Amino acid sequence: TPVIGVLALQGDVREHLIALAAADAVARPVRRPEELAEVDGLVVPGGESTTISKLAVLFGVMEPLRARVRDGMPVYGTCAGMIMIADKILDPRSGQETIGGIDMIVRRNAFGRQNESFEAAVDVKGVAGDPVEGVFIRAPWVESVGAGAEVLAEHEGHIVAVRQGNALATSFHPELTGDHRVHALFVDMVRANGAPESL
Ligand code: GLN
Repeated sequence: TPVIGVLALQGDVREHLIALAAADAVARPVRRPEELAEVDGLVVPGGESTTISKLAVLFGVMEPLRARVRDGMPVYGTCAGMIMIADKILDPRSGQETIGGIDMIVRRNAFGRQNESFEAAVDVKGVAGDPVEGVFIRAPWVESVGAGAEVLAEHEGHIVAVRQGNALATSFHPELTGDHRVHALFVDMVRANGAPESL
């Protein structure tokens, strides 16, 4: 059974832990480099990307995160987490950094303010059956992707799900619905990747 961490600095960590467990992974919170070393894959949750960025630096886990992602550890980011695993932010706040992992440019808060949050049916490539119920909360969209990145979903002409190798990102929050198919897709990616060399 794959062991999957959820970066637990800020954001909706608990919801991801529950969704991962429902998708047959062993899920645990990750805050420190020692904890990161023990997981086969990692989810970066929704929340506030500037806060997550600053706390990652403060906890000394930013560089270890970059190193693991560079080494091919599967990573899945939702919303703020999507921003965290983008190689580039169009409009970063001062001091805001990313882990990187997907060759894409993201626009923060692209779909509007908190009170413009919405739900929409989204067809996600690789997720069989009905469309996924997309929950968009001050969500980013993807302005553009590089040649190595595959667009998995769009909403009203804007890119909202992307995969590049072992990295997966969605603008929306599958962890807030009862539907665990996107988490199951990620668990499959982790399973296919196998355990890290060091274990
Ligand atoms: N707007 C937030 C950010 O920029 C993301 C919101 C979310 O994760 N629901 O980090």
